[in-house]
Amino acid sequence: MTQQLYLADAWTRDFTARVTAHRVEGDKTWLSLDRSAFYPEGGGQPGDSGRLLAGDQVWQVQDTQKDAQGQVWHAVTGPDGPPPVGSQVHGELDWARRFDHMQQHTGEHLIASCLYRLTGGFTHGLHIGREVSTIDVTMPDNSTRLGQDVLDDIEALANRLITEDSPVTCRFPDAAELAGLPLRKDPTVQEQVRVCAMGDYEMVACGGTHLSRTGQIGLVKLLGSEPARGKLRLSFLCGGRAVAHYVRVYKAVTRAGELLSAGVDELPGRLSEALRQAEDNRRELGALRRQRSLAKLPGLLEQARVLPDGRRLVIAQLEEQDLPALEALAGEMVKHSGLIALLCVPRAGRFNLLFARSPDVKADMAEFIRSTGAKGGGRSDFARGAAADSLPWEAAQVMAPHLP
Ligand SMILES: [Zn+2]
Repeated sequence: MTQQLYLADAWTRDFTARVTAHRVEGDKTWLSLDRSAFYPEGGGQPGDSGRLLAGDQVWQVQDTQKDAQGQVWHAVTGPDGPPPVGSQVHGELDWARRFDHMQQHTGEHLIASCLYRLTGGFTHGLHIGREVSTIDVTMPDNSTRLGQDVLDDIEALANRLITEDSPVTCRFPDAAELAGLPLRKDPTVQEQVRVCAMGDYEMVACGGTHLSRTGQIGLVKLLGSEPARGKLRLSFLCGGRAVAHYVRVYKAVTRAGELLSAGVDELPGRLSEALRQAEDNRRELGALRRQRSLAKLPGLLEQARVLPDGRRLVIAQLEEQDLPALEALAGEMVKHSGLIALLCVPRAGRFNLLFARSPDVKADMAEFIRSTGAKGGGRSDFARGAAADSLPWEAAQVMAPHLP
């Protein structure tokens, strides 16, 4: 069994140890040590990474796992295979990564404690993600979301307790003492139960890596809650991650404020006003385009070709930018009896087609549009299509006089 140095002191970032065994699994070589400060994946916290050194040789530790017998295994890569069994190595943790995990993990204890105190919600598990961490919670009323006011209260309490800078302590009480301790939840192991306490308000069994004082968590930011597998999933950031998030949000808000000439507090109101104005403008523009489109109607009807059977054929290539305006024009046109309208709007190298007919004309315009080679469809009296070249449009002009 590997002596797990992080249990006695989570701040150990380098150590000396002896190699006790090798194991090859797939493309990974694992190596166990008689003692290690590398934390093996567990409790939702990823395994540590870092380096092993001997003389001028360096091996990268990419992952750390623990087996059922308590042996800690390190996935190592190096130019000439792993260091031999029995040899002595010096271990160095990737400390920035581990410290970040300690901030997320210790912060989770604090958040779970505040959540329990304010709502009675019971936290099951932690997951430390690359960017965001989450806990899954069962609420007393089985709700799967928290209101913003509750999130604000939990966050405010957690950040207040951070400023109190209470000690975080871990120890192994004997069974008799353990039975009398006010643990927030029952331990998941039976023997060698390690109890972690935070100030006088939080106590829970945990084998993880913790900071020494709540002040080292720095900052807690709750991002939100959502349902997940019937429970409530709470997303959060602690420490350096929360600070980096604040910096990113601050930059985005400042830039948005510059664009809208608004201070941070005025920003939501100013943005909502700008969106309302944009919507008004969009509607006004639509109405103007429709008006402009409909103004072409008398001219197009005048130019209509009269077929031998008396029907009239309107063929027009237009420059409308607005599909609803084009549809309004076609709609007005086919209110006249005995009329077939073929409209084409070339745009960005594509030929957009709108074929329509009066109710008293029999031809199926959806079928007609496809018979030209264009892609499209619609109703028998009102169809739309598009083509990558002008051939379908040219074919339609030739075929239209012969429509049934
Ligand atoms: Zn813990």
